[in-house]
Amino acid sequence: LEAQFQQAAKMEAVGRLAGGIAHDFNNLLTVINGFSDLVLRDADETDPHRLPLTEIRAAGERAARLTQQLLAYSRKAMIEPKVLDLNALVGESVKLLRLVGEDVIVAAVLDPALARIRADRGQIEQVLLNLVVNARDAMPNGGRVTIETRTVALGADDWPDDPDLKPGQYVRLTVADTGAGMTEPVRAKIFEPFFTTKGVGKGTGLGLAVVHGAMKQSGGYISVASEVGVGTTFTLLFPAVSAPPEPAPEAPHLSAGGTE
Ligand code: ADP
Repeated sequence: LEAQFQQAAKMEAVGRLAGGIAHDFNNLLTVINGFSDLVLRDADETDPHRLPLTEIRAAGERAARLTQQLLAYSRKAMIEPKVLDLNALVGESVKLLRLVGEDVIVAAVLDPALARIRADRGQIEQVLLNLVVNARDAMPNGGRVTIETRTVALGADDWPDDPDLKPGQYVRLTVADTGAGMTEPVRAKIFEPFFTTKGVGKGTGLGLAVVHGAMKQSGGYISVASEVGVGTTFTLLFPAVSAPPEPAPEAPHLSAGGTE
């Protein structure tokens, strides 16, 4: 089950990332193919450049088709931000997350008066999964992951990790583990796509890049504190939203005294 679970998570992660890359790639290919066409038009049968140009054009065409496929695939993973109760989401996810490792205890400490956030449900589930899987990997001999939620009011100076933080109400999510921790040079690179210390075939280096991207899309912030041999804590901030969890479906309007 866990292998399946991880596979689905990885595919989803790759899909989101591939979508972003494919989009930029497609723009570049438009330039490459466009100019190839232009030069090819001026190269007649006797031109020695005609054959290599034809090969370039054909490869460009294949590449364009490939990026189109990638785009189509990642569109399925398009995000739909909605007003969410993060506690409910954590509560549901924890049941699944408890399956990540035998000697790993996953505990949730939830603020009963938590404000709502606005985010894509699937994306936040993915964020939780990626963080907890990483915590598990950092605790080969077992340990504890604590997921905590809290509504906090932050001023501009309360978040040294990002001097551009807008003051206001935030929903803070922390994911703390009692694992191996990381050195400063590793810590500095963890949000980069494809950065991994897990070795070839084990890590993709996409997990935290996806988490970082999701936080950006939710208008939030992320930071990490880590100590070698002690553990790691990821802190995520989502702007608090003062709306109900889901817009209630509007009651059909009945006009008084109507004859319809
Ligand atoms: P991957 O898990 O495929 O390596 P990630 O982007 O999720 O990719 O993580 C990048 C790297 O960050 C990991 O290889 C690991 O070195 C480090 N890392 C992430 N989370 C933790 C954690 N909870 N404890 C220690 N190191 C971590």
